[in-house]
Amino acid sequence: MRRFPLSLLLLAACGRPPAADLVAYGKVWTGDTTRPFAAAVATRGDTVLAVGDSATIAAYVGEKTRVLANGSGLITPGFMDDHVHFLDGGFQLSSVDLRSSDSPAEFIRRLQAFAAERRPGEWILGGDWDHERWPGSPLPRHEWIDSVTPNNPVFVSRLDGHMALANRLAMQAAGITKATKDIEGGTIVRDPKTGEPTGVFKDEAMGPVYGVMPEPSEAQVDAALARAMQFAATKGVTAVGSVSAQWSQVAGLLRARKNGTLSLRFSLYPALAGWHRVADSLVANGPGDDWIRLAGVKGFVDGSLGSTTALFFEPYADDPRTSGLLTTPEDSLRSQIGRADSAGLQVAVHAIGEKANALVLDIYDSVAKAHGARDRRFRIEHAQHLRPQEVERMATQGVIASMQPYHLSDDGRWAGKRLGSRVGDSYVFRSLLDHKAHLAFGSDWTVASIDPLLGIWAAVTRRTLDGKNPGGWIPEQKISLDEALHAYTTSNAYGVFAEATRGMLKPGYRADLVLLDQDLFSIPPEAIETAHIRTTVTGGKVVYQSTE
Ligand SMILES: [Zn+2]
Repeated sequence: MRRFPLSLLLLAACGRPPAADLVAYGKVWTGDTTRPFAAAVATRGDTVLAVGDSATIAAYVGEKTRVLANGSGLITPGFMDDHVHFLDGGFQLSSVDLRSSDSPAEFIRRLQAFAAERRPGEWILGGDWDHERWPGSPLPRHEWIDSVTPNNPVFVSRLDGHMALANRLAMQAAGITKATKDIEGGTIVRDPKTGEPTGVFKDEAMGPVYGVMPEPSEAQVDAALARAMQFAATKGVTAVGSVSAQWSQVAGLLRARKNGTLSLRFSLYPALAGWHRVADSLVANGPGDDWIRLAGVKGFVDGSLGSTTALFFEPYADDPRTSGLLTTPEDSLRSQIGRADSAGLQVAVHAIGEKANALVLDIYDSVAKAHGARDRRFRIEHAQHLRPQEVERMATQGVIASMQPYHLSDDGRWAGKRLGSRVGDSYVFRSLLDHKAHLAFGSDWTVASIDPLLGIWAAVTRRTLDGKNPGGWIPEQKISLDEALHAYTTSNAYGVFAEATRGMLKPGYRADLVLLDQDLFSIPPEAIETAHIRTTVTGGKVVYQSTE
């Protein structure tokens, strides 16, 4: 628990409140259940001094205090997003945007235009295409793009990151031919007639192509991190859990801190398979602080619903040949989780399908029983499709459901055809909260936008992007605005062991807060997505101010 600096306590004892660096007036949702609402907040340095009515807080205004008046908007604790792919996000911000291409022709046109601007030999990555937007949902093929990308290897991902399309140059670079053998935990999509790879690689099969890409330079990493930090601030995000974090990202953040450009708090989860490196680093350097913290490790057990690689007990309704993929062999998953836990690391595992979630819960249970009681806070990333018995186990085992509500607005358009009668087990926020499980929200950026307001909108309305579910998709799983805000603040703080200092606006807590231009509590839930961030304060500093 953080204590006030002695000087502040002495000043307070003399009857004169210390001058705040910053005071914000306006309706405040504090995240503190003992005092959910207030009318103003004062901060000094990186600490919340006081939260209360405006008269009380006015006493903290000194000559140099920066005063922000938020009118009829809402002030909240800074949003925490516990699941982002942060460095990828930074690279994506300067990459080709294929997300909104609604047809193969548009997909090809955008790649052609982007490639025309690149230096020969430069790899074209990112993209975030979505074949579910295209009539008939065909997977793309390398022949579509070879002639328009003659000088650049291309490896553009589907928006879920679980498959990617390579052009001919990229496949040549990776040595992929018709003779290339299948890869465990992945799929090389092949032409059914000729057996030739079509250019689409799923899950582990993407490895050989990623393996031949040049590593980004330090300057490229630094530029991507700076772009991504600025972007997160525009969306009111003050802390992230960066999952599958590359060591180049860790190094880049340490450089940013040294240069004084770090403007976001990071909890880092490098790959589970490299747990020993994380453990070694913790022994050598300690866990870090609440700006850069080596938090734990993140693994994978299955793929995604969109790529039909999420692991279920029964086959897919629209593709009975498969019930998904186990992307990490069970034995190695079990031993890696066990060793990481023995080293005191927090373990987070990606699990989407029902069988994947059940398997991870089994492993967590056996590891916890074997190693004895400890405040370990195992996490399941996505926890997207849970049978009732797994919902119950999430709660009884104390496993954090780290979920991304905006994915439901996306998947809800087509999940029914993939899942059939199981579809009601999708994104069961209400059931998890009713069972008193820990529900923490994030975006999975770059899979979805990092914008927490979109996530909150999705969680409370459960509307889908096609507009076909105005009353909500699986509406019985809706949660309240208050619950969604908690999932983006206090629950996320708990998810990274920071609940004693972050996630609430309360004296002694960190000075992370956001000013929204609308009071989310007094507008219809459907309108939440139209609210904007006015000001983002991280560590007591204004890191974003809207110009409108
Ligand atoms: Zn992810």
